[in-house]
Amino acid sequence: MCTNSGENKNLWFDELSMKEAEKAAEEGKVVIIPCGSVEEHGTHLPLCTDSLQAEYVALEVAQKADCLVAPPLRYGVCNSTRNFPGTLTLSFDSLRSIMTDILEELIRNGFKRLLIITGHAGRSHMTALKLAAKEVVTKHKNEAGKSRIIVCSDYDFAFDLKGKEFDERDSHAGTIETSRVMAIRSDLIKGKGKRSFPNLPRFEIIPDPERYFPSGVMGDPTIASAEKGQRINEYIIEQIVKLVEELKR
Ligand SMILES: [Zn+2]
Repeated sequence: MCTNSGENKNLWFDELSMKEAEKAAEEGKVVIIPCGSVEEHGTHLPLCTDSLQAEYVALEVAQKADCLVAPPLRYGVCNSTRNFPGTLTLSFDSLRSIMTDILEELIRNGFKRLLIITGHAGRSHMTALKLAAKEVVTKHKNEAGKSRIIVCSDYDFAFDLKGKEFDERDSHAGTIETSRVMAIRSDLIKGKGKRSFPNLPRFEIIPDPERYFPSGVMGDPTIASAEKGQRINEYIIEQIVKLVEELKR
């Protein structure tokens, strides 16, 4: 996303030169690592929906709070959507392992304040990211200039708004997510989508969860709008800027 537009100059970590990277580490710059997924999001949203949102938020936060954005990881662990066309999932161990490597490498380069923002927020996906961060901070806990890592999903904040303006059950590819993509990349919206509030079994482990939501949607995309999306995105960005300011202290 926008990696070669020149529009986000000085924000992408890998657009720095070797010398600039060294200087940024000395200055104690916070590095944001956006993580997404390749996952079905109904017939109306692209497979990169989670990646788009995380990258957009990361760049906006980096601009406002003077951080760098690491090259995004556009894969995640997808369970309930795995059998839909287009979903490409990593295994739990692969995600945990690749994120551990990325965090370790940033720390080895002198970047000790790190923030992972993930647009995909499935439970095993989040757990893999948190275990990676836990392993890394534990390993470095006795070093000078303590390493600190935050792991959050932009949906940790977006879902603050549920029950107020949005349906309590709104979730995957529903009103909030569709609105956000409308605000970020309206050119990727492919029609209106279908309203569906599935009741997946709470405890049973099932091999074919798609049977419960064949539309690939959990929520109501038909009432989404770019204006709503803009407001949600602004709220998320504001909350994550606060986290970064805290991380810098
Ligand atoms: Zn999503």
